[in-house]
Amino acid sequence: MSLPVETWRRRAAALSFQSEHFIEGRFVPSQSGATFPAINPATGATTANISRGQAEDIERAVQSAKRAFADGRWTDLSPRQRMDIFRRFADLVEHHAEDLALLDSLAMGKPITDALTIDLPETVVTLRYFGEAIDKVGGQVTTTVSSATHMVLREPFGVVGAISAWNYPLLMAVWKIAPALAAGNTVVLKPSERAPLSLGRLAEIFCQAGGPPGVFNVVQGLGPEAGEALALHPDVAKISFTGSTAVGKQLMISAGRSNLKRVALETGGKSPQIFFPDLDNLDRAVEAAVRGIFDNAGQVCNAGSRLLIHQDLHDAFLARLLAITPNLYRPGDPLDPSTQLGPLVGRAQQQAVLARIAEGVEDGARLVMGGSAPQGFEAGAYVMPTVFCDVTPQMRIARQEIFGPVVSILKFADEAEAVRLANDSDYGLAASVWTANLTRAHRMVKQLQAGVVWVNSFGDGDMTQPFGGFKQSGNTRDKGLECLEGYLQSKSVWIALS
Ligand code: NAD
Repeated sequence: MSLPVETWRRRAAALSFQSEHFIEGRFVPSQSGATFPAINPATGATTANISRGQAEDIERAVQSAKRAFADGRWTDLSPRQRMDIFRRFADLVEHHAEDLALLDSLAMGKPITDALTIDLPETVVTLRYFGEAIDKVGGQVTTTVSSATHMVLREPFGVVGAISAWNYPLLMAVWKIAPALAAGNTVVLKPSERAPLSLGRLAEIFCQAGGPPGVFNVVQGLGPEAGEALALHPDVAKISFTGSTAVGKQLMISAGRSNLKRVALETGGKSPQIFFPDLDNLDRAVEAAVRGIFDNAGQVCNAGSRLLIHQDLHDAFLARLLAITPNLYRPGDPLDPSTQLGPLVGRAQQQAVLARIAEGVEDGARLVMGGSAPQGFEAGAYVMPTVFCDVTPQMRIARQEIFGPVVSILKFADEAEAVRLANDSDYGLAASVWTANLTRAHRMVKQLQAGVVWVNSFGDGDMTQPFGGFKQSGNTRDKGLECLEGYLQSKSVWIALS
């Protein structure tokens, strides 16, 4: 049972914020003393002044993580000891779920109900999954000549730098931190400057769960300052990143300019949902289309931002979509448990999304819903759910990731055209196909260029599902054992027996 909005507001007013870096097991300010404001996008008010990390703060955190790796305070624990710490870590995060959800909601405007029912449970499950997997991933003894024994050992890299996005602040960070730590690495996390409130607290909870100091460090700050310093640091062996494709490309350059560190990227998307007239249940399909783009105000990497609808289904589909959306996504105070549409992460994001909407109109798409900020919410960074029809593949709204509540509807005539349209993108994160025809579904699955494909479903999954993209949506996978293996490097050991 959710708490009433007044209670959330009272708790928000009484909350204390950990605004400093977390290094070597304690909170410390920036060496320069500089800060930046964390602004609540629902109100425009400053929530806290956050330490603004620079190269010297990154240096301090990396050296802390390097010492922690080298002296074995983490890697020399038995797998069972590390699993126990992970278990307590997950339990404590679950125990503090309401406060952590509140921090993320205040930071980036996420509806508190979403934070409580999606972000926090998923964060806890992620910690449990990778904690349980610690002693399940191992090396190999290969079949080889009788005069030798050949083993492949799997070893951690050392210091992993994690750079995360703001749309699911805790969850996106934990998708990196949990497998990195489970594999035996130590970590320096640079959270997004647009959602910095919960991550220092997370690192503190890790230590309260028995995690040794220095194993999990957090440096707050801006991308081009703290982020770039981490990406260029010669003692960081791997960078694990979630964010935009443009910054992902810069990180590869930083790796090349420094120590050729591994760079694992989870980047943007422009995911198609494809609807055939033989789908089973129109109401269910339309609701999936609506939720797939308007949840989290469209700030979802795999958001179904392109709806490809067969020409025979188009009008009925659109009528249903326009009928249900206003009731499902009314703007409101994120702290009101009934709110499903919060603000975007900030004023700049709101203006960027409104500019993309203007481009859609300019390019000749038909705006059939939304297109502006809602009245009565001027203090916040809100944008109404926005629907464009008659979109053609070359229009900017069909190609660019908007990262807001804006959907483009394109028509197709047959399967071949649906595949062509779906794959006509620089991105390849996710796709879905809606049809009751099993052979058609399998044909589509084989042809779609996406790291995740859903059939008669959208956005579903669990921790066993590797998540990541083809093409410019990234080069790695979060979740699943494949992800854990990505934080280990192999060492081949050839032992001559004669
Ligand atoms: P962003 O690229 O602006 O920022 C991401 C992180 O990179 C932030 O922590 C930022 O401070 C840091 N950064 C920025 N410039 C940097 C630099 N020069 N060097 C090092 N670090 C730097 O992205 P965002 O706006 O925070 O997040 C939205 C993007 O994230 C969208 O493109 C979305 O699709 C993507 N995303 C992808 C996934 C996925 O799993 N594929 C998940 C969530 C979000």
